[in-house]
Amino acid sequence: MPGKVDIHGVLIDNVTMNEALEKVLGMLKSQTPQKIFTPNSEIIMQATRDPELKYILNSAELVVPDGAGVILASRIMKNELKEKVSGIDLVKKILKNTEKRPTSFFMLGGRPGVAEKASVNILSDHPKARILGYRNGYFDENEVPEIIKQINDSRAEILLVGLGAPKQEKWIHRYAGELNCKILMGVGGSIDIFAGTAKLAPEFMRKAGLEWLYRLIKEPKRAKRMLDLPRFILLTLKKVTADRKNQ
Ligand code: UDP
Repeated sequence: MPGKVDIHGVLIDNVTMNEALEKVLGMLKSQTPQKIFTPNSEIIMQATRDPELKYILNSAELVVPDGAGVILASRIMKNELKEKVSGIDLVKKILKNTEKRPTSFFMLGGRPGVAEKASVNILSDHPKARILGYRNGYFDENEVPEIIKQINDSRAEILLVGLGAPKQEKWIHRYAGELNCKILMGVGGSIDIFAGTAKLAPEFMRKAGLEWLYRLIKEPKRAKRMLDLPRFILLTLKKVTADRKNQ
């Protein structure tokens, strides 16, 4: 398997989408829960300020580059990642593969009713996928034991956790030891996308690496948080300049 690429301290697996799927299929045979995270440039910037988040990301069995910014940074640092493997695209790939290898899921996250809508849409597109349970992502700490029981009783192989970053990464890390799923995957807003309550950027914008612009137009309240995108590129340029000086 190909190695890892260090993007500001976050170790990203240098995999193509097909290689990521192969890894997922291997994980489905494992005895203990395997973690998958999908950091984009915003999450990597969060990790530069939050050592716990960085540690959690780096302890996962699979970390894929979610977004054009991460690929651009790897290119600038001359350690180029093969391709963008976004969380939503990886989930879609696993769903498509259910034709060959039926797979079961539990969805945790989104506002009440969203995961249910998402499962209806997923099942109509992928009849061989099995959605064995879902739960909205707005709950108190004291409800967690019951949620864990619901997930374990469902016997789902893959738990998709869409609580937003870094909540989902920290939740997965904290409760991995109590969960019986094969795979625990942080999926951000993907449950909303499957439900149709949020939309992906149009293909031409995604290809041009402009999904952030689409997001900014749709959710202007994210603007402050999105300042991390230019900060991410600046940090990358600074690092390359410093490395050159030290050569
Ligand atoms: N969410 C949730 N519980 C929370 C906070 C957020 O279930 O306590 C969900 C929210 O409804 C949305 C997703 O988490 O479906 C956040 O999506 P976003 O794309 O904003 O994720 P991020 O970019 O923060 O990873």
